[in-house]
Amino acid sequence: MRILIVEDEKRLALTLKDLLGQSGYQADLAFNGNDGLELAKSGIYDGVILDVMLPQMNGFQVLRSLRAGGSMVPVLMLTARGELADRVQGLDSGADYYLTKPFENQELLACLRTILRRQPAIVPELLTFGDLTLNPASSQLSRGEKNVTLSSKELEMLTILFKNAGCFIPKETLLLKIWGYDSSVNANSVEAYVSFIRKKLALLQSSVTVRVARNIGYTLEDGR
Ligand code: CA
Repeated sequence: MRILIVEDEKRLALTLKDLLGQSGYQADLAFNGNDGLELAKSGIYDGVILDVMLPQMNGFQVLRSLRAGGSMVPVLMLTARGELADRVQGLDSGADYYLTKPFENQELLACLRTILRRQPAIVPELLTFGDLTLNPASSQLSRGEKNVTLSSKELEMLTILFKNAGCFIPKETLLLKIWGYDSSVNANSVEAYVSFIRKKLALLQSSVTVRVARNIGYTLEDGR
């Protein structure tokens, strides 16, 4: 899952990013309210950790704009101030949870798990398409008795394609969902991973293929 951290205290932001990374999340950082809002609106995040006191827009303003734009992304608000008034304001502006600094790492992770569980789109344990079964928990792709193990990026890409079977997913969306705003990757990375996935589909002798439509995107297609 991909989490956005909006926090202007860089040291804390980096610590949180590490903590989330160790816990199996991908995390991106924004250091002010405007950048945080722009990133949060992209729709690629499963959750947002949002500080209240931020340069440009404060966390409440970011949250209100986000909700006004229709985003339902779960938001965990952080603040150094624990007054009741803040807490009420946070919940009124659409926060899912409110955590007062300083907090324990385990407390933050527990809150994050709670707000992420509230998301309506729960990933089923097993995803199926055509003759294939994808098990995200074990990174196994199987066809009948045959299994292949997927790398983490292959798994992320296939999970997106399985969950959106029947729709073309733009290359840009795959790039952002899998690599975030890491500028060292580009469209060629998507193509490289599609080719790795195609090799694994061939190993499984699956009837499923990854179809590419130029300038539109990628989709799974069942050739049976
Ligand atoms: Ca702050």
